[in-house]
Amino acid sequence: MGRTVFRGGKVFDGTGTPLADADVVIDGGTIVEVGTGLDGDEAVECAGKAVLPGLFDCHVHVTGRYEDDELTIQHRPFSYNFFLIPEILRQTIALGITTVRDAGGADLGLKKAVDDGVLVGPRMQISITMLSQTGGHNDEWLPSGGRSAGWIPYHGFPDGVCDGVEGSRLKVREVIRAGADVIKIASSGGFFSPSDDPRHPHFAQDELDEIVRTAADLDRWVMSHAHGPEGIKRAVRAGVRSIEHGTYLDQECAELMVERGTWLVPTLTAGDTTEELANDPKLAPEIREKFVGLGRPEFDAMRLAAEAGVKVAMGTDCPVAPHGWNLNELAHMANNGFTPEQALVAATSSAAELMGVRDRLGTLEPGKIADVVVVDGDPFDFATLKDRIEQVWKDGARIV
Ligand SMILES: [Zn+2]
Repeated sequence: MGRTVFRGGKVFDGTGTPLADADVVIDGGTIVEVGTGLDGDEAVECAGKAVLPGLFDCHVHVTGRYEDDELTIQHRPFSYNFFLIPEILRQTIALGITTVRDAGGADLGLKKAVDDGVLVGPRMQISITMLSQTGGHNDEWLPSGGRSAGWIPYHGFPDGVCDGVEGSRLKVREVIRAGADVIKIASSGGFFSPSDDPRHPHFAQDELDEIVRTAADLDRWVMSHAHGPEGIKRAVRAGVRSIEHGTYLDQECAELMVERGTWLVPTLTAGDTTEELANDPKLAPEIREKFVGLGRPEFDAMRLAAEAGVKVAMGTDCPVAPHGWNLNELAHMANNGFTPEQALVAATSSAAELMGVRDRLGTLEPGKIADVVVVDGDPFDFATLKDRIEQVWKDGARIV
């Protein structure tokens, strides 16, 4: 295959050191050299461009689309949904996102199809489905007696509802059997569910403790959807790896997270559609009402977390906002407490650390997997970044 040199660009290596003039050389699937005056068998001329590590989205749902409402999904053949996924994967990797953590929806077959090259897309860690209590964020029960079409169980995709220490332990084992790399839970209510309140804590402390313990025995971390402060604190005390959303995070939460080393994945992009959803006639009234007058409390949470020194990794919760909007997250972080450099670190080396793959990914350093993004112009001008992603390389192969 030989050496490919990305020559003459500004390099952001992902560690947080400023942009520097440098060349990056990859050989096969590996980065072999970063420095000046390097050569290779083939060259990618990068004058006027920036060279970045492959980006991460640590909270995404690659199996759903913003434009698909409940009624549409209810009336669509079940398997049709699977055929929409390749386009979502393509859109995501076209943004330079070469690694994702799927927060619910992606199953083992999808992950393997990408790993084996059947589908083009970002490599993924998957959680299969989200564990929630009866009546919680992933309970699809409807007052009519039917069930919501969002998360229909099928072979390899178990139902996520569980209660009690025994029940929660069994459910963790069940999703790991199905292929979960990480356990996703909801330790508070949510917005897109009919009979719960985002501010309420979900799961009792003993249930959360048992979930984290059971997962740890099987070498998995736990990521917890949590909006309200009590749901955040319980999950942090139980020892989860990350809090997802953290919408009503307060000072006490932030201090506890710093003390315990808990990550925050703020998913600020999800709020980009709040106003539209508040007026969406296709949403059930009890869901729509949760968005009315909501504002952007997640921005306050992000600022508080940044100030307190909470570890932050980038995640978007797309398709709560449409797939393709993922890089909005960088701008939101940079507008709410982070410098632009910190925002890009959150999307590269910090994200890799959260996901436990920092030894292989997240920076442009010799020995790392050759995920490389070439950007035309300034990589910190986030407002226009998505239109300036020129090349995306994954595992040393050019994808875009
Ligand atoms: Zn989510």
